[in-house]
Amino acid sequence: MFERVTFRRLSRRQFLALSAAAALSSFLPVRHSADPLFLVDAHLDLGWNLTNYGRDYTRSAYITRALETKRAVERIAGKAMLGLPELLAAQVAVLFGVIFVMPRRAVSSVLQIAHYATSDEAHAWALRMVADIERFAAQSRRTLFIRSAADLENILTTWHPSVPPEARRIGILLAMEGADPVRTPADFAAWYARGLRCVGLAWLRTRYAGSDTEPSGLTAQGEALLREMSAYRVILDTAHLAEQAFWDCLRHWQGAIIYSHGVPRHFLATQRALSDAQIAALVERNGVIGVGLYSGFYRRRRGIGFTVEDVADAIDYICQRFGSAYVALGSDLDGGFGADHAPQGIQTIADLSKVFAALQSRGYTQADLRAIAHGNWLRVLRSAL
Ligand SMILES: [Zn+2]
Repeated sequence: MFERVTFRRLSRRQFLALSAAAALSSFLPVRHSADPLFLVDAHLDLGWNLTNYGRDYTRSAYITRALETKRAVERIAGKAMLGLPELLAAQVAVLFGVIFVMPRRAVSSVLQIAHYATSDEAHAWALRMVADIERFAAQSRRTLFIRSAADLENILTTWHPSVPPEARRIGILLAMEGADPVRTPADFAAWYARGLRCVGLAWLRTRYAGSDTEPSGLTAQGEALLREMSAYRVILDTAHLAEQAFWDCLRHWQGAIIYSHGVPRHFLATQRALSDAQIAALVERNGVIGVGLYSGFYRRRRGIGFTVEDVADAIDYICQRFGSAYVALGSDLDGGFGADHAPQGIQTIADLSKVFAALQSRGYTQADLRAIAHGNWLRVLRSAL
């Protein structure tokens, strides 16, 4: 059932010209300051893009776009926003590299994409995505997996001001969105051994929990999975959960807990977004909320007036109520949408600095910006790993 998308062939000359243009656009605006405002991004759908679309993220996003122009993949996935040059230009020190296999009932696109009807199918696709993420990491030489606190600190030493930019490394923390690939709670041990460190139970409803669009609570299997997970050093991600499942999770999980990507409900009046009570509960548990950059989170239509100020508003909404220690970014770029559904002026992940410029112009201090850019996620990672 699965076919890789075929790409337009570029001549060597076209490829070099595009590479030069991409390199210029990616690197010129970035000043590597002595003390880099490096980022942790808690939601990037690497598995989805590598496995379904055959995207080569060692390339610039602009090369990917050029290869996909007028092809089905661009119509379905949108204009690519990720690539190793842009991740480095954005100063992404750590990213949550997500595995996501779609339930068959959600598949409608003309492309053949990884989907499942049974947990065995979900498991097989998810393992293939892990292999594709590992292949990307091995090819790029600038990326390393984070499986332990020591791995995390090794990555962070490369972001010390004394280290030249060319020596910096990106840490990939393996995360799962929708937990059906974990076939049984006992299966979790193998997933942990494979490197999985962050688990979201639902996207649509899974055997473990209800989702925002298919609401219900945590199931008995979900309770059993959380019991199993609590024996390991992992993070529970509450994004996409139905509100009932969210509260059930808080009761049944004492470990590190986050909401990786989305917005407060003030910006989107559905269970996909967090109510003030949910935000307060996460704050009480020392959790962090990752604000996303998808236009759909902001009730805005494609390209109409959606800007980084909207993203700054979402961050500010949480800061005004709880301070700057509980909000960060889970950008979700390339997460089923492209540049047309990102804020104006955000063409690739390299442009995330504009979100911080917007906050700075609102009077956010350097300490606030560092907390939001990386400090808050690092607190969770250090406590969880
Ligand atoms: Zn998502």
